[in-house]
Amino acid sequence: MTQLHIRQRDKSALRQGYSASVRKFEIASIATYALAVAWLAWRLAPRAAEKPFLALSALMLGFIAADFVSGVVHWMADTWGTAKWPIIGKALIRPFREHHVDQKEITRHDFVETNGNNCFISIFPTVAAALLPLHETGWLFLSTMMFAMSVAIFGTNQFHKWAHMDAPPPLVRALQRASLILPPEHHAVHHSAPYAKYYCISVGWLNEALFRLRFFQTLERAITALTGALPREDDIGKRAALVVAQQPPPPLPELPRIELPKLPIELSGIDLPDGPRLAKPD
Ligand SMILES: [Zn+2]
Ligand SMILES: [Zn+2]
Repeated sequence: MTQLHIRQRDKSALRQGYSASVRKFEIASIATYALAVAWLAWRLAPRAAEKPFLALSALMLGFIAADFVSGVVHWMADTWGTAKWPIIGKALIRPFREHHVDQKEITRHDFVETNGNNCFISIFPTVAAALLPLHETGWLFLSTMMFAMSVAIFGTNQFHKWAHMDAPPPLVRALQRASLILPPEHHAVHHSAPYAKYYCISVGWLNEALFRLRFFQTLERAITALTGALPREDDIGKRAALVVAQQPPPPLPELPRIELPKLPIELSGIDLPDGPRLAKPD
């Protein structure tokens, strides 16, 4: 990939995009999200306690769905648009572009800058989940799943930040080793140019599957065919983006070869014991 001539944006210009108004927006998002998620938890708790297995399976599914959402949002911000766009450009695209230029910058973000964006994204689905008719089992399952999704999406940037820290707290390192939050070694795959795979950053469980299924590559081709837009053009420059877009799809997984041990005797020489015989149908 070294011959791609990847052009990267100016780091200080990207940093200047973090204005006072963006910070106020993030603080308001965190406060609103905290209220929304507390309300949802208060509504869910008594009903989830009555159906613990339903609640546990919904929580697990929500956790996996959050990993998928983290991948889709990250892919969109990495691949399309520009940091100059109003609101979305400054609040969502700029931090992802900055992150490719300087991976460690995220470790210098405080709580507000790390978590403000994801709080904003999570407000609407969290409120919607709290408004569902929870006395019906199906809606209770969906609402509990959305609660887990909301909390995991809220945590995603924090998990991502921890994956870039040289010395995260011991409990965090233990969770990373257990692959319960994004492990740094796994996330390092995304950080090699042209940043075109392993987008999921909650826990990363879906990354290899989405890569092998060519999920994002197929979406990119469909969007290019429909709109003419070139994926990653603003992030890495037109020339490199063209090369990446024309790369062949990733290889499909090979099944492991299993060597069977050589049998010490000829199968034909074995006398099988007589057993009860089934009567042949007429
Ligand atoms: Zn990225
Ligand atoms: Zn990263």
